[in-house]
Amino acid sequence: MLRVGVIGVGHLGKIHARVYSELDGVELVAVSDIQENAAREVAEAHSTDSHKILATTDARDWLDKVDAVSVVVPTPVHLEAARTFLEAGKGVLVEKPLAATLAEADELISIADRSGSTLQVGHIERFNPVLSAALPHIDRPVFIECDRIHPFSLRSTDVSVILDLMIHDIDLILHVIDGEVTSVDALGAQVISPTDDLATARLVFASGCVAMVKTSRVAMNRSRKVRIFCERSYFSLDLVARSGYRVFLEEGYDPGDFLDNTGRISAPEGEAAFLAKHLRTEQLTIPDHEPLQAELRAFVQAVVNKTEPPVTGPQGRRAMKVAEEIDKSIRYHRQRVTEYLGRSR
Ligand code: NAD
Repeated sequence: MLRVGVIGVGHLGKIHARVYSELDGVELVAVSDIQENAAREVAEAHSTDSHKILATTDARDWLDKVDAVSVVVPTPVHLEAARTFLEAGKGVLVEKPLAATLAEADELISIADRSGSTLQVGHIERFNPVLSAALPHIDRPVFIECDRIHPFSLRSTDVSVILDLMIHDIDLILHVIDGEVTSVDALGAQVISPTDDLATARLVFASGCVAMVKTSRVAMNRSRKVRIFCERSYFSLDLVARSGYRVFLEEGYDPGDFLDNTGRISAPEGEAAFLAKHLRTEQLTIPDHEPLQAELRAFVQAVVNKTEPPVTGPQGRRAMKVAEEIDKSIRYHRQRVTEYLGRSR
């Protein structure tokens, strides 16, 4: 039995506690939250007559009683909450983004390196069943487009929409496209938070591949769409509806074989029949798993087997670094637009 605890049992931490309490081979032994009532309520919800879960306002009170923890506190306190556990060699899953700043991310990574503890980052889209279904078919994508919109919530306004929501797509893009991001062009806008609530960015990779990402947290509804273009196939994924399809060219198809003397495609059998023959569409079969359960199970396995977790600290940092470049580009463009408006007044 791996003994686990959850630090921070607000919106998402409650769900971590529930999932741990249902996982085989895991015993949820403690939770903590600076709001005493929140900790007590979650502990009571998962305690039984024979197994009482500890509830405290300071997680360090139960440091020696656990082997691993989830850190699900607001991003600005990730480092503070995770530090003692990493130093003590415990497995730590830190929710995304890894930290509020790159310096804090570096500190978390170096503590984990020194103590040899497992550090996983909560980039949950890696465990989205739609992505699990699509990934085996994706062959060297050249262009990705991610659109994510979310209704406004006060919960994450301590960071911009880039660290709050866009970071999910940044990690996904970096997971799917190989190589370094060499240039970033982005625009953002503040609506009701002190930081950007919507942003759009274009990332160019050393290979020439491009990703476009658009994110808003001031939308009327929730939608997460991903489109991936490869040389001979295209994927359209709906991460909320959990559906997706792939379109791919018939083996050996070459448009040059069908051109008439004006350079147009000639299809005597008719347009629909031509497309049906050469362009295949296949609905993806989406596995039925809860992403958080898959994520926490993978974390537990990495701690127990002392293997590399599926989302490492350096990968969490890499996503933050791109987020920082996006933020820089937004500030640069904002400055230029302000100057332009000033000149044209
Ligand atoms: P939340 O505000 O609902 O919950 C945070 C909880 O942490 C609160 O109950 C608060 O009292 C508690 N807390 C604050 N400081 C603490 C401390 N020092 N020690 C113990 N408890 C403390 O926030 P949330 O929406 O659950 O977000 C928490 C984290 O999870 C954030 O980093 C956020 O980015 C991340 N998150 C990830 C996803 C995802 O899809 N992976 C979704 C939502 C949130």
